[in-house]
Amino acid sequence: MLDPATGLIRFDRTSPDRFLRPYAADMRSYGAPVLRAKKTLKATRPNLGIEAAYRRELLALIDEMHKSVGYWIKAKFKANEPRIAEAQDATPADALRVAVSRLAKRWQSRFDDAAGKLADYFARAVEERSTASLKKILKDSGFSVKFQMTPVMNDIFDATVNQNVALIKSIGSQYLGDVEGMVQRSIQSGRDIKGLTNELEQRYGITRRRAELIARDQNNKAQSAFTRARRIECGITQAVWMHSHGGETPRPSHVALNGKLFDVAKGAWDVTEQKWIQPGELVNCKCVSRPVVAGFQ
Ligand SMILES: [Zn+2]
Repeated sequence: MLDPATGLIRFDRTSPDRFLRPYAADMRSYGAPVLRAKKTLKATRPNLGIEAAYRRELLALIDEMHKSVGYWIKAKFKANEPRIAEAQDATPADALRVAVSRLAKRWQSRFDDAAGKLADYFARAVEERSTASLKKILKDSGFSVKFQMTPVMNDIFDATVNQNVALIKSIGSQYLGDVEGMVQRSIQSGRDIKGLTNELEQRYGITRRRAELIARDQNNKAQSAFTRARRIECGITQAVWMHSHGGETPRPSHVALNGKLFDVAKGAWDVTEQKWIQPGELVNCKCVSRPVVAGFQ
């Protein structure tokens, strides 16, 4: 709106579409000098379907491993329990240790095999969705772009695959390493199977929660990285930070960034982290951003 006192156009900072102003047409009708109008487009958000699919795959693998390991350990302990408890005869304990280590190796290779395929599927899904989403957002605003796979996108794709391969493998190795340690301690202290089963269940819960965090966090991170690269490709240099207001413990530095313009290539300065970051890059960051483009006159 035109401020009669100053003769300048004043923007309503509380309006939900304040980022869509000023419209060139409005400005012309006010007789104001026509500036190159800027438009803030919609944000690309992480796709919850991809996160759910990734989480489902990880949890299915964990469930299978936990069931197999739990069943096997119970059976072995039942067969060997009296002698382990007495701790007189080292042979069954040693045999048990060797057998647990063999079982752990078998499950680790299951995780290693699954990791490549799953990470590849995940990275591909996020890349396709991020590209399609930006394309649609631009198209809805009258911009037509054609995206191709570029060296930058390929690099992000490879980095996403590698990081997720390492994370998936680590889900297996952390769980199995802990299980081996638990069995070892149980044998040494002559504890019964009940204590071990409880410990196993606890470890199972921790492993599942970690997998859920990985699926959510990697989905946010990959979406952020792919979207940033695509924006730069089509000449979008600025974006407006959008805090999600959805987390239980919002980062004060991100709340402060809400609504602020930042450089797409560089990111925004996070005063807490003391570094330049992108929305969705930090663990559990649900922030997104809206690209700013030069509008039509
Ligand atoms: Zn955030």
